[in-house]
Amino acid sequence: MRYVKSVSAIALAAAVAIGVAADAAAQDEQFVVVGTGGVTGVYYPTGGAIQRLVNANRAEHGIRVSVESTGGSIFNLNALASGEMDMGVVQSDWQFHSFNGSHENFPEANPDLRAVFSIHGEPFTVVARADSGIETFEDLVGKRVNIGNPGSGARGTMEVLMEAYGWTVDDFAQASELATAEQSQALCDNNVDVIVFTVGHPSGTIQEATTSCESHIIPVQSEVVDKLIEDNPFYAYSTVPGGMYPNNPDDVTTFGVKATFVTTTALSTEAVETIVSAVFENFDQFIALHPAYQGLTPEQMANDGMSAPVHDGAMSYYCAAGLRDDC
Ligand code: GLU
Repeated sequence: MRYVKSVSAIALAAAVAIGVAADAAAQDEQFVVVGTGGVTGVYYPTGGAIQRLVNANRAEHGIRVSVESTGGSIFNLNALASGEMDMGVVQSDWQFHSFNGSHENFPEANPDLRAVFSIHGEPFTVVARADSGIETFEDLVGKRVNIGNPGSGARGTMEVLMEAYGWTVDDFAQASELATAEQSQALCDNNVDVIVFTVGHPSGTIQEATTSCESHIIPVQSEVVDKLIEDNPFYAYSTVPGGMYPNNPDDVTTFGVKATFVTTTALSTEAVETIVSAVFENFDQFIALHPAYQGLTPEQMANDGMSAPVHDGAMSYYCAAGLRDDC
């Protein structure tokens, strides 16, 4: 009895000691919440890749990244502006508009927004059922179109394109607002004729849309798009590589943006430098975490697609690593 008592006393003391240690660790740990996108896109695994590289050494630096699936770029930028999130993956076009307050989606500029790095290219990707008769973007008129969920960057870019073409939702037979993760099934169930997604390749959504039924990626190239690219520094023609998805053997020309990683001035120089360093010091490991990162270089990621000022913590790493010319 006495023995048991002393054991439980030791156990209790140990438990208290462990609890105290855990509390101390928890207090020292800084949680960094990263907003991404739908689970079948590339943003969500991108958040996961950053999380993995940062958290591997969290005992040393005390930063713990956690990743949230969200509606996409516009949601993330709003959550950054309101302080609900610390970092986010966002399209370069919406990074520009959030910082400048230059689009109706961002009536107020967020001068505290900061660029951290850019990642993969995101072609604006239009996938139509093979039996829909859609061969060019102009053929969307009169069709059942999933224009995307509010809050997604893809929806925003679709609206920019519609405005440039002089279209409203009334030009479509139906305009639905299904989320990224739902739209491929809707396409293959014949509930819509066409889906749109600004996304890196390969992505789960486009894989599902081209594997579960016969569908084609449609080119988005016209004088209207030429003008959009001419007028906006963040747009460029880009290609969805042929052979990446079933029934889509040829390269398809469309226009696109870049996926970028952003934060605000609320996140400290030290924290951002630690996070940037975790990715760049393990660059080969990072690149291997998703096929959409193929061909990326540290120089590109440290320089391209940034329209908000670069965060001091990121700049400090890039300058020490000789990755930028403007130090
Ligand atoms: N570019 C998309 C958006 O902002 C998300 C793409 C992805 O999830 O990979 O909504």
